Amino acid sequence: MMTHFKAIYLICFSLLYAFSANAVELCGQLAQGELIRGKAEGAEQIFLDNTQLNVLKDGTFFFALDRDAPKTATLQIADSDNVDAYPLEITPTDWDIQKINGVPPRKVEPTEKDLHKINIEREDLYRALSYHTNKPLWEKGFVMPVKGRTSGNFGGQRVMNGKPRAPHRGMDIAAPEGTPVYASSDGNVTLSGGNYFYTGNVVVLDHGQNLSTIYAHLKSTTVKKGDKVKQGDIIGYVGQTGRATGPHLHWGASVNNVRFQPLSLLKLDDKSFCSNL
Ligand SMILES: [Zn+2]
Repeated sequence: MMTHFKAIYLICFSLLYAFSANAVELCGQLAQGELIRGKAEGAEQIFLDNTQLNVLKDGTFFFALDRDAPKTATLQIADSDNVDAYPLEITPTDWDIQKINGVPPRKVEPTEKDLHKINIEREDLYRALSYHTNKPLWEKGFVMPVKGRTSGNFGGQRVMNGKPRAPHRGMDIAAPEGTPVYASSDGNVTLSGGNYFYTGNVVVLDHGQNLSTIYAHLKSTTVKKGDKVKQGDIIGYVGQTGRATGPHLHWGASVNNVRFQPLSLLKLDDKSFCSNL
């Protein structure tokens, strides 16, 4: 009888050990629009559905859940021996409706010529958000890039001059024209300027591991593509270039070209939303 118990105990113990040895930790809220920081020791390759994630040697990785992410996703983690698949349940977010009036009509209904400019803007931004160093430059965390009042939340469904338009994929911070805008963390400049149709003058910073931040509607920028910046360096000044009804900073964040709530960058070290899979 004793031997029997001992055998069960040993099996349970080894199962527990095997589980903890392969433990995968996820920090963040599994909800639409959120950033998730994960750690899977020994992981060699990680996929979220069809997207391959950038994994550091210690197993750290990031992914974001799109504003309109479906209710389920699958995380696949491969080490040298096998591949484990973890189904994830994504909580839907109840996005608000943002009514914005007084937008110059052409910025709501662009002309043929404007559409050509808009396509160039999309391509430039996509390219800037796709260029990344593997070196983690984000490790000291992130700070708010400007002092001001939140004038628009991430994810809101926008209605401009009464017409439904694309959802808001960043947050807006209102501040007087000329207020300095700071780099939210260390990074490399992958785009600066542009005077684009929607985003005006933009700075994009690459923080490594496919993580980027976006600073839009700037009056002017003080950096150029290829520059290295430190957290707190001035990268430009608040303006209202592009589609804006007043001076503000549009602050955006992206990982693997998926935009997420930039405020989740401020909680990177918050352990209260961590759990093991
Ligand atoms: Zn905005």
